[in-house]
Amino acid sequence: MQQSQSKQAVVQAVVNGFEAAVGPDHWLNIARRCPSPNHNERPENEISLLVVHNISLPPKQYGDAFVEDFFCNQLALDAHPYFAEIAHLQVSSHLYIKRDGSLVQFVPFNLRAWHAGVSCYGGRYNCNDFSIGIELEGCDDEAYEAAQYKVLTQVVMALQLAYPAITADRITGHEFIAPHRKTDPGSAFDWQVLFASLS
Ligand SMILES: [Zn+2]
Repeated sequence: MQQSQSKQAVVQAVVNGFEAAVGPDHWLNIARRCPSPNHNERPENEISLLVVHNISLPPKQYGDAFVEDFFCNQLALDAHPYFAEIAHLQVSSHLYIKRDGSLVQFVPFNLRAWHAGVSCYGGRYNCNDFSIGIELEGCDDEAYEAAQYKVLTQVVMALQLAYPAITADRITGHEFIAPHRKTDPGSAFDWQVLFASLS
């Protein structure tokens, strides 16, 4: 309990008086809720891995709401030619951090979001079963915004407090759990910035 309290104090310090916290309903208090139907039950109720991704729709175009539409199966086919290639997919993530640091949650953490696909971590397949997915608005080769790192740090600390099995060595990227298929969050993501601010 003592350790938990001290960690809570750290979280509060980092967010400058605004406490990022996971509620009993497994939603994050600082996230805008955008419920996605693309989820199901976790087979073992385990949450022990965090997967960082990137996404932008259309690719490398920022500041719109197409990702929210996509994760809620409401993408307008006629809005961009690229959308016809992906509109049939049923995918989601738990969280989405936009370029300005605004935060959206699509699926409560106790449920299984559909972000990783065919994947393997530490010899275990189907990472969606036991992971939380966080999408950053971006692409593999354009630097992420400072506001995104700041919010990501706050979010990760709150998640580690709520789900202690997500230790620092269990924070990874989509490119590492699906190496021949995915490349995100890419070389533009600075893991040292994240881990330095977490430590
Ligand atoms: Zn991804």
